Amino acid sequence: MSEKIQTIPIAKPWMGEAEAEAARRPIMTGWVTQGPEVAAFEQEFATYVGSNHACAVSNCTTALHLALLAVGVKPGDEVITVSHSYIATANSIRYCGATPVFVDIEPQTYNINPMLIEDAITSATKAILVVHQIGMPCDLSAILQIARSHNLPVIEDAACAIGSEILWDGNWEKIGKAHGDIVCFSFHPRKIISTGDGGMLTTNNPEFDQQFRLWRQHGMSIPDTVRHGAKQVIFESYPMLGYNYRMTDIQAAVGREQLKRLPEIVERRRYLAQKYQQLLADIPGLKLPTEPTWAKSNWQSFCVRLPETSDQVQVMQMMLDAGVSTRRGIMCTHREPAYQQEAWSCGVKQNSCDCQPGSCQRLIESEQAQDKAIILPLFHQMTEEEQNRVVEVLQAACRV
Ligand SMILES: *Cc1c(COP(=O)(O)O)cnc(C)c1O
Repeated sequence: MSEKIQTIPIAKPWMGEAEAEAARRPIMTGWVTQGPEVAAFEQEFATYVGSNHACAVSNCTTALHLALLAVGVKPGDEVITVSHSYIATANSIRYCGATPVFVDIEPQTYNINPMLIEDAITSATKAILVVHQIGMPCDLSAILQIARSHNLPVIEDAACAIGSEILWDGNWEKIGKAHGDIVCFSFHPRKIISTGDGGMLTTNNPEFDQQFRLWRQHGMSIPDTVRHGAKQVIFESYPMLGYNYRMTDIQAAVGREQLKRLPEIVERRRYLAQKYQQLLADIPGLKLPTEPTWAKSNWQSFCVRLPETSDQVQVMQMMLDAGVSTRRGIMCTHREPAYQQEAWSCGVKQNSCDCQPGSCQRLIESEQAQDKAIILPLFHQMTEEEQNRVVEVLQAACRV
């Protein structure tokens, strides 16, 4: 009798009774969409990251959209970003009618290469949208220096980076303290903490925060909560085009519990990542992720680059057959059918480079990272035994 081994998943949210109980609160009071739980979640979130303001929205993609609108991105503008990211990063730029200008990454950190940014700036550049990919802080101080010298706002896509830290003027500070102008977070289940779906915008600029609050609720001048509590009849007005990008109070109640767990989650992930570093150190040709001295990742994902001789699909299939889920390296947006040549630029003036479909000479590091790296399982509840099994199976797959 052969017992089927359980497949080790790539990720798994850590939630339980506390979250289930919290979700009861808004349901029992009857106030289920954006209300007191959202307001409390925002305050607690701002306190955690150290920002002046935090505004909850429906997800990180809508957060990115509002962030770009707030800094004035309009049709015809260019926004510098990376192709090597989840497709939502670049999509948010296109929602504004603007063109994403893709800059290549550094192979060691999988983050934007700051040395390539200056060359991509044109008179049409309106903003720089950087990503803290899979939780690893990008080189914000170098990026901000370039951005400030060109008077360009910086938006941080921190979808995966809640709990990550950066050394800033000699102190460790949380990503989200708004080192750039606006920071966007995700609470999708693949991220560190989850509300099912959900997003957050942090900033130190009170005008941006006010703007987000109007936009997320149809551009309505008086929020529901204020009308509900009013002793006199009041009518709202709609001074601008808005959206429905609200977070519900049910989600926020869950988020508040998740936030309490966050320090323990980050500590556990750092422990597991360090353990991977030790256990994988001896696999010939395997390249492990590196953390710059000024960065502390939350290890939202643990990404390894396979030996030159290994075939990515073959390794992943062998691991899957042995009961270990993996994912390929982060996607390259410019290789997707939704990104035909006219939808983006690689920084050479309006695509005058001779890129092949699915391959751009200027995005070589991005493409290689997608083709050569794989993401290993890493989640809070992961046992020592499970981690050892991942390592053994990877070791065997690399030997073939
Ligand atoms: C997950 C992710 C997003 C999108 O987040 P949603 O909350 O699902 O909209 C955007 N950018 C990056 C880098 C991500 O990893």
